Amino acid sequence: MYYQSTRDKGVKISSAEAIKRGISEDGGLFVPESVPNVTLEEIKSLSEMKYTDRAYTILSKFLTDYTSEEIKDCCTKAYSPAKFGSDDTAPVKKLSDTMHILELWHGPTCAFKDMALQILPHLLTKAVKKTGENNEIVILVATSGDTGKAALEGFKDVDGTRIQVYYPETGVSEIQKLQMITQEGNNVSVIAVKGNFDDAQTGVKKIFTDNEYKAELAQKGYSLSSANSINWGRLVPQIVYYFSAYADMVKNAEISAGDEINICVPTGNFGNILAAYYAKIMGLPVKKLICASNKNSVLTDFITTGTYDKSRDFYTTISPSMDIIISSNLERLLFIMSGCDDELISQYMKSLSENGVYTVSEDILAKIKSDFAAGCCDDEMTKATIKEIKDKYNYTADTHTAVAIKVYMDYVKATSDTTKTVIASTANPYKFNKSVLEAVAQVPDNADEFELLDILSKVSGLEIPDSLGGLKTKEIRFNTTCDKSMMKDEVSKFLA
Ligand SMILES: *Cc1c(COP(=O)(O)O)cnc(C)c1O
Repeated sequence: MYYQSTRDKGVKISSAEAIKRGISEDGGLFVPESVPNVTLEEIKSLSEMKYTDRAYTILSKFLTDYTSEEIKDCCTKAYSPAKFGSDDTAPVKKLSDTMHILELWHGPTCAFKDMALQILPHLLTKAVKKTGENNEIVILVATSGDTGKAALEGFKDVDGTRIQVYYPETGVSEIQKLQMITQEGNNVSVIAVKGNFDDAQTGVKKIFTDNEYKAELAQKGYSLSSANSINWGRLVPQIVYYFSAYADMVKNAEISAGDEINICVPTGNFGNILAAYYAKIMGLPVKKLICASNKNSVLTDFITTGTYDKSRDFYTTISPSMDIIISSNLERLLFIMSGCDDELISQYMKSLSENGVYTVSEDILAKIKSDFAAGCCDDEMTKATIKEIKDKYNYTADTHTAVAIKVYMDYVKATSDTTKTVIASTANPYKFNKSVLEAVAQVPDNADEFELLDILSKVSGLEIPDSLGGLKTKEIRFNTTCDKSMMKDEVSKFLA
């Protein structure tokens, strides 16, 4: 199977090449030129499999230039019980007859980014070998919190790679910062940047586009690469867990194979929900995909009106991983829905970057509306939902998950649709402990992060994950702060 660019169908490359390059030179994203099919019989057979084998089954359909052994090796290394606590990599918890929570945060960093970033390093190092490259891969990541830590854990001590992560000095939570500056591994580096997330991201982009510097690094045996969410190698592993959730529901006799479900996803960059859409067009019986946003409601507005307008206020919310104005992966959906019209997609994206806005054709909007519903919810409603779900079902949801639950409940009110629904839960509530606690309990004003963990454990009855509770006594390994103009020097120091 070949991969093409959403902005130039003339580009035709293998999946290994697509994963190695990350993004196409024309600015487009790589998509498979056809969508593989999964039969109901295959879906039934997934019910009897462990997650690693489910992952193997789905990934093999897309990564046709990898050998079976290579894909198996990637899946086993990524989704081992050592990394996810048990063989139940992505368990489904039933709240009510219709509400089924797919917990995607049992990995090492307690957020759903692990589902992709635990396997990406293995897919990438194999891609590098397969495409005949001998350089060591150097991953540079700018992070606003979750991605940096998940990438560090994924790439830690992976042969043939090094990783340097930049976080804004002010702007990540105390827990997120501690998670990063105590990072273990012999190939990792973490730097605080004076400035905000945009400064860090701009700095990384500058390095990526500095051809002279890249040539200099290549001479020394290094190739730069990125681990951000537009890489196909991050998207494809996310398709797996929607099949897995369905297979579990069949196994538990919650549904019969062939019954339709809905899927509701708390959305930022549109990666996670796009993976659910891929599952649907591959043959997973899905009725509606419900796209949930926080107060940054650009996607709700788009799905409602067909106009994507990025000229709007940016809100900092208690679900920060969804504080996004430009949802990059939407481009892939538009490409598919336009019948792979690369010229049209190029026009839309040009209009977005030059005028800040584009409007899709009525035909595309109609198609989107037949597959997707959308809604949004502010911080106050998010907290009220956390409390409601705790009171009603004794389930503690994190802030991102709560946005999805609220949007789902609104959807049911508006449509009376009683189809059983899988709601993606994207973070362990401990990761956003302060906001979660504020929703359900009295929080002492001056409580530090570790006191908050203890209080949340009493309130929720959930065990504190070792990876968070253990931070208290972990050695701090990284305390470099650099000016945003000096990031390149930090790369050179790291590689020296
Ligand atoms: C990244 C993230 C999201 C958003 O996922 P997208 O794939 O960008 O839509 C939602 N919740 C959490 C906790 C995240 O870390």
